[in-house]
Amino acid sequence: MDKIVIPQTDQILVNGLSLIGGHVQVDIVRSLFDTKMAGLLDGAGGASCHLCTASDEEIKSIDWVRSGFPINRLISDAWQLFDDVNEDDFLKLPSKQRLGITHKSTSDINIIAASPLHAYLCVFRWYMLLIYHLDAGHKVWSPSNDKVNASMRRIRAILLEKCSFSVDIPSSQGGTSTTRNIARDCFLDKRDFLKWATSSINLSDKPLLEKIQTNLSVVLRLVNSGNLINCSKMEELCKETYEYILVQFPWANITPSLHKLLSHSFKIIGEYNNGRGLQNLSEECSEACNKFVRRYRENLARKTSFCDNVRDILVRLLCCSDPLLVQNRFTSTKTRNSSANDTNSLQDILYNSIVLENDN
Ligand SMILES: [Zn+2]
Repeated sequence: MDKIVIPQTDQILVNGLSLIGGHVQVDIVRSLFDTKMAGLLDGAGGASCHLCTASDEEIKSIDWVRSGFPINRLISDAWQLFDDVNEDDFLKLPSKQRLGITHKSTSDINIIAASPLHAYLCVFRWYMLLIYHLDAGHKVWSPSNDKVNASMRRIRAILLEKCSFSVDIPSSQGGTSTTRNIARDCFLDKRDFLKWATSSINLSDKPLLEKIQTNLSVVLRLVNSGNLINCSKMEELCKETYEYILVQFPWANITPSLHKLLSHSFKIIGEYNNGRGLQNLSEECSEACNKFVRRYRENLARKTSFCDNVRDILVRLLCCSDPLLVQNRFTSTKTRNSSANDTNSLQDILYNSIVLENDN
């Protein structure tokens, strides 16, 4: 093994590591938050968006879409609101007036939660709900409506039979059968997904759904890539898609994930990630560890206290990513049969017109 040379002076090492006064300092980027955690940290448990202070009405306003939603939800502002009035009086104000804030922030830094993986899952869920509503002819957004549920059951049976896509089937471990790969393949229109999903929808609605599918697919691919992106072109595409949805389907709900994708993703990429897609901030790796966390928690961690339990799980997870252990791990030579089958020519033309530098 090569001899490890420890630098004697303060210096910046690689990948967010620095040597300061003989101690290694690790820069931690806090970006892996789901909506619940973001709400706990920034105190905005009742907010429509954890990046901007837009209300539910503003999120559905075409004027706001055209002018853009600034990332303006700041922790300092939230603290200031509490400082101005008595806490009990403040919480009695209407939600819009207190910007969706439900408790004092427990974080001292602003919350920029990228969540590129969940963007795929949540936006695909919204897209499928749009199809179910159109199939049921029910143009009021109510996912629990009986007609919409009947359409959902019928369409997911068709997709399973004709395309082998297991979509929106509840899982015994929570969540649904929809994975990122399924969402990506459906957005890429593999196995004639759109044809089968819209087999009993009005002909006039199909081109609208196709355009939304193409645009959302391209935006999601950009967000989940590590490519250098032309952010102004991406902004144009996002705003065009957002406005198109509001005009064509004014009755459809704009979910927080869809709003975040179409109004903030290009800004997060441009202002917080050096113009590159958010692959480096993806929660995909930590999500892939969920099954190990369950196994460690049940079988390989102390149950003497919550702290002991969590500490043992974290130690085991750190062991899994230890470079010395990893280099001895068996690696499969099997490679994913990708690229050639993962393409969709129309989407690729649009995608490549926005990418400045491909990292592949
Ligand atoms: Zn927002």
